[in-house]
Amino acid sequence: MKLTERIKNIPPYIFAQIDQKKAEARARGIDIVDLGIGDPDLPTPDYILDAMTEALRNPDNHTYPPYEGTKPFRQAVADWYKDRFDVELDADKEVISLIGSKEGIAHAFLTFLDPGDIAILPNPGYPVYKVATLIAGGVPYQLPVNEENNYQINLSDIPADICEKANVLFLNYPNNPTGAIASDAYLEECIAFGLKHNILICMDLAYSEVSYDGYRPKSILEFKDAKKIAIEFHSLSKTFNMTGWRIGMAVGNAQAVQALGKIKTNIDSGIFKAIQVAGIKALSHYKEFVQGQNKIYQERRDIIVDGLNELGWNLPKPKATFYIWAKVPQGFTSASFVIELLEKTGIMVVPGTGYGDCGEGYFRISITTPKERLLEAVKRLREHNIRFS
Ligand SMILES: *Cc1c(COP(=O)(O)O)cnc(C)c1O
Repeated sequence: MKLTERIKNIPPYIFAQIDQKKAEARARGIDIVDLGIGDPDLPTPDYILDAMTEALRNPDNHTYPPYEGTKPFRQAVADWYKDRFDVELDADKEVISLIGSKEGIAHAFLTFLDPGDIAILPNPGYPVYKVATLIAGGVPYQLPVNEENNYQINLSDIPADICEKANVLFLNYPNNPTGAIASDAYLEECIAFGLKHNILICMDLAYSEVSYDGYRPKSILEFKDAKKIAIEFHSLSKTFNMTGWRIGMAVGNAQAVQALGKIKTNIDSGIFKAIQVAGIKALSHYKEFVQGQNKIYQERRDIIVDGLNELGWNLPKPKATFYIWAKVPQGFTSASFVIELLEKTGIMVVPGTGYGDCGEGYFRISITTPKERLLEAVKRLREHNIRFS
């Protein structure tokens, strides 16, 4: 059997490797505090489960769903965007369902890149952007995001010939893995950049509802002219603890949304209709639920950030996401620190390099773990004198 170059060039998915390390440590009898993968530990709320249970019993929901999502689901997405962001969407032309946003993001590169076209991507960034670019035959052009540039790609650093050949710019705010947020001015700048160079602005908004201290992330579609050049990827996964359910949406520029739909129609057959019924329910009651949940995450965030800062770090408290992005102590690389931490303390974190080489020198903590375990992690760090210096 011959494997394609395409397959050979794909690095192993980082979380699959981490799962393996974890399994090995567990087999050695280590009690692991897992601050690795960002997957909500809290359950999907009851009001969604009730809607799902009822929908499951209805045989009408057992047949193939419409490719683009049921009309009531697309309308619920449009209504939610109106209520949450004050953005008007045409449910027929500007909204499609996704089998989780990862699916839509991966297919976006097939939709918007011809072989040789450039995708401008943040480094570090969600690994799917780069790999899906390669799968599509595109060329990733990665730019560093870091403390110095406020975790915002410096658009004026991009040479003219790259702007010429680029077809896609990916943004992700609130950001995984850094927890960074974007300024309004930057989002406006990105739209102007997209319009000027005819580059589709793709916003990954997976974390819009996980935010703290009164901060409310914005949709890029809130900004003037965004719909002319932007598509946004969103998902119920992180907001409603529904990562395993696989339901998300792409919204924005009608031509872009329809083009993505054309690719998807030939690859998948949509989301189980009962899940779409549950998704409608989720979106229509988001306010009460999200507030309570963010209180829980905020308390967890404070435990970790305060705990690390007592040990010599000097971290700001992220305003959104369930991630804390921190430097490794001197003398370590991302990988060597993650291994040292696991072996000495049983605490599992993700090396920054899992998100691109510019993540070197950093690690990511996820707070999707109960408070008691986070307190345990801080206690172990103290006991083993793991400090920042
Ligand atoms: C989790 C995540 C996604 C994908 O989530 P889905 O479950 O596929 O909707 C997309 N982007 C980022 C940055 C994420 O962290």
